[in-house]
Amino acid sequence: MAVSIQTENQNVAETAARLTDKFGRAITDLRISITDRCNYKCVYCRDGEDGAIYADLPMDDYLRMARVMVGLGIEKLRITGGEPLLRKGVIEYVEQTSKLRTLSGKPVEVALTTNGHLLEKMAEPLKAAGLTRITVSMDAVNAEKFTRITRVPNAYEKVLAGIRAARKAGLDPVKVNCVLLRGFNDDQIEAFGSFAREEGVVVRFIEFMPLEEGRVWTKDTVVTLREIVERMNAFLPLREIEHARSETARRYVFADGIGEIGIIAPVSQPFCGHCSRIRITSDGKIRTCLFSQIDHDLHSVMRRGGSDHEMAAYIRNVVMKKEERHHIGEPGFQKPSRSMVHIGG
Ligand code: SAM
Repeated sequence: MAVSIQTENQNVAETAARLTDKFGRAITDLRISITDRCNYKCVYCRDGEDGAIYADLPMDDYLRMARVMVGLGIEKLRITGGEPLLRKGVIEYVEQTSKLRTLSGKPVEVALTTNGHLLEKMAEPLKAAGLTRITVSMDAVNAEKFTRITRVPNAYEKVLAGIRAARKAGLDPVKVNCVLLRGFNDDQIEAFGSFAREEGVVVRFIEFMPLEEGRVWTKDTVVTLREIVERMNAFLPLREIEHARSETARRYVFADGIGEIGIIAPVSQPFCGHCSRIRITSDGKIRTCLFSQIDHDLHSVMRRGGSDHEMAAYIRNVVMKKEERHHIGEPGFQKPSRSMVHIGG
């Protein structure tokens, strides 16, 4: 399969220009979930009752979907889940997708988002397979609090070892994503500042979105960008770094030059106007927005025996339906039809 990657991409690309939605946004960023299973039950994400709901597909099917998407202009591929490191074949998947070439002939950037629990042993092989970037989710830097969040004993030690192994393997900079919930782990802000400096990682705070399995989200639970900056700045002065308008994170360094943090603020400062993302769920459905009410069944096109061209035509059509923006916090907001863990964050 790997041998024909370039040729088939060129064929798909020849038929039309790169993927663009009806608002003129170029779609260059694909997140693909390779399993619906997760070994953590983070309180703000899972209700603790449901396990996997949706099917996992053969890895070759995810490879074909990625290849066709890259042929349409995808430049960055993020492998996610569920928990992607639970999936057998993930290292081979990194190896195969990192051989894909963008429309301009550059290697596709292959990144991965993980809870880090199994990362210690897998960091080296992932890097060797061609992984360019890794993001580890971690919502406390205190072992006891971390177990209360993940509902898994000794999780903190495991994830910390995973982060260190990723740095050692040369997956630098390791990004550590933290979702803050008011009254639950917002006491961790300053500690995460120290953690970024001491561990040499980029900590990125993400505003909590209404994407959970339960009904935890209210506007008041969201710790906003403004509040995080104020708190961190009082702890240690920050300086904002210039960032591209298309970047989702606002970036800051500590004024003494040691350590970087970022803040992703989809709730208080939405960036939908620059959204370049599309997602494929573990069961092969396209989602055009985290907050979509519907899935688009790309895998059914494959099951029917559809060609790469038919898949490409289907994808183009779906991308035209990409929502202009989300409506978090507005009257009449409807929660999306899937929670984050079943979409792929
Ligand atoms: N298991 C992997 C991990 O832990 O990174 C990948 C899947 S997980 C669903 C992806 C990311 O979504 C994690 O960083 C998690 O913190 C984030 N997430 C889950 N629910 C969220 C929510 N309601 N709002 C914001 N981020 C959320």
